[in-house]
Amino acid sequence: MNIALIAHDKKKDDMIRLAVQFKEILSKHTLYATGTTGTLVMGETGLCINRMKSGPLGGDQQIGAMIAANELDLIIFLRDPLTAQPHEPDVSALLRLCDVQNIPLATNMASGAVMLEAIGRGALDWRMKINPLYS
Ligand code: PGA
Repeated sequence: MNIALIAHDKKKDDMIRLAVQFKEILSKHTLYATGTTGTLVMGETGLCINRMKSGPLGGDQQIGAMIAANELDLIIFLRDPLTAQPHEPDVSALLRLCDVQNIPLATNMASGAVMLEAIGRGALDWRMKINPLYS
């Protein structure tokens, strides 16, 4: 599976905790992340992550382009609903694209954990038939 990780600044520690907790499952998949999120998670877990540009430079839009092409199978976007994010990626554009393609998107640690457990049990293996990266 191809999994993308994005975290608003105040949620980056949560993303690290999630990645540490699910390191074994994540290590079996191809990972993508926005720049800073990816650097932090790689540094703390040793996981190999394809890093896009940082959020303010368009990394979320690079991930959006992959969603539009149906190339990602799960997005975990830990968003901070309590802080204005003038320079940070907005989840609603990505959520819309995920709904176009029927791709799951988790927006907090709890839903992220549920989805990672499910992916560990093969719950999204059906996407291998439709994700063009597998053909
Ligand atoms: P970052 O992008 O991982 O590069 O910080 C996400 C964000 O800006 O919130």
